[in-house]
Amino acid sequence: MSKKKINSDRVRDVIVIGAGPAGLAAAIAARKASLDCETIERRTLVNSILNFPTNMVFFTTPELLELGELPFVTPYAKPTRDEALRYYRRVVDTYDLTVKLGYEVVAVRPHNGHDGESLLAVDISHPKHGQGSLMSKTVVVAVGAYECPNLLNVPGESLPHVSHYYTEAHPYYRKQVMVVGGKNSAAEAALELYRAGAHVTLVHRWSELGTGIKYWVRPDIENRIQEGSIAAHFESRVVEINTSDVVIEKLGKRYTLSTEAVFLLTGYHPDTAMLERFGVEVDAETMVPSHNPETYETNVPNVFLAGQVLSGIHSGQIFIENGRFHGSMVIQEVARRLT
Ligand SMILES: Cc1cc2nc3c(=O)[nH]c(=O)nc-3n(C[C@H](O)[C@H](O)[C@H](O)COP(=O)(O)OP(=O)(O)OC[C@H]3O[C@@H](n4cnc5c(N)ncnc54)[C@H](O)[C@@H]3O)c2cc1C
Repeated sequence: MSKKKINSDRVRDVIVIGAGPAGLAAAIAARKASLDCETIERRTLVNSILNFPTNMVFFTTPELLELGELPFVTPYAKPTRDEALRYYRRVVDTYDLTVKLGYEVVAVRPHNGHDGESLLAVDISHPKHGQGSLMSKTVVVAVGAYECPNLLNVPGESLPHVSHYYTEAHPYYRKQVMVVGGKNSAAEAALELYRAGAHVTLVHRWSELGTGIKYWVRPDIENRIQEGSIAAHFESRVVEINTSDVVIEKLGKRYTLSTEAVFLLTGYHPDTAMLERFGVEVDAETMVPSHNPETYETNVPNVFLAGQVLSGIHSGQIFIENGRFHGSMVIQEVARRLT
């Protein structure tokens, strides 16, 4: 790591951490309120969406993914991942948002300004440009939850043929693939893999698939299971993953299933260690960060939350559709305090 420093004396009104849809919504609201705002993103713009399955189609209609009233134009009823990437690039250009890409926020600390003003120091790090601190009056934490998969905590989970993310089917043509999970991600991956010629086994811990499965995916997956095109084990849990098989336990009995690739699609949760580095308290059971439900302010004065980070272990409860409104509510409160 370079020893270079990237400090600046400028005190921003708002620093947004994370350039996902929720962070961008907050940055747009700040721009509309004429606040000095900078967004810090550790990877790429809308990095979670970039890493979604390559051929995925959103379950949401385009207008519900829109930010700042910029129309999301597409001929399709449900936009594709690629269209969403293009749309969010256009959002940043249209609103001329200041987004620092490739900078990770490693800590947020209370800091006393020259005149005794209570500020926040945002410590950032870049692999080439070094480390430093940016000053801000307020911070919006919009770091999502996609980078912390819910682990099964079973032996073999970190083997190279095991992944908590699914991207595309082609490499699994004619392979024995296990998909673990019973929600949309698992159902869609199982179907796509099956249609690309993989031999798919779905393993789910409950007796039925999740209730939130897309209405057009449910009959497809249920029919493929019923006709035996996709093997399914319900009320089953993975006990152990080995290089060429997986041991599952089903109703008290153990079975060893030949498997060449494993997708553990069992959801995600916020990075609680990161939140704690920002000083934000997190409920140990629900992983929901402490916040005021009206303003989204955390236990740290002037540090707010937006988007999926608010969802805790139930990451499926906040999506782009509803998380895009947090930013404007936060900025309304920030503007009230700063003006
Ligand atoms: C397969 C799939 C399909 C989905 N389909 C839909 C759909 O159809 N409709 C819908 O509304 N929702 C959908 N969702 C959910 C939706 O994508 C998420 O709810 C949304 O991305 C959350 O937005 P966010 O801005 O809160 O977080 P994210 O999009 O996860 O953005 C967080 C950003 O913060 C950055 N970051 C994290 N830590 C730091 C740090 N320390 N410093 C700097 N940057 C940091 C990350 O790199 C990331 O870019 C889907 C999710 C999945 C997995």
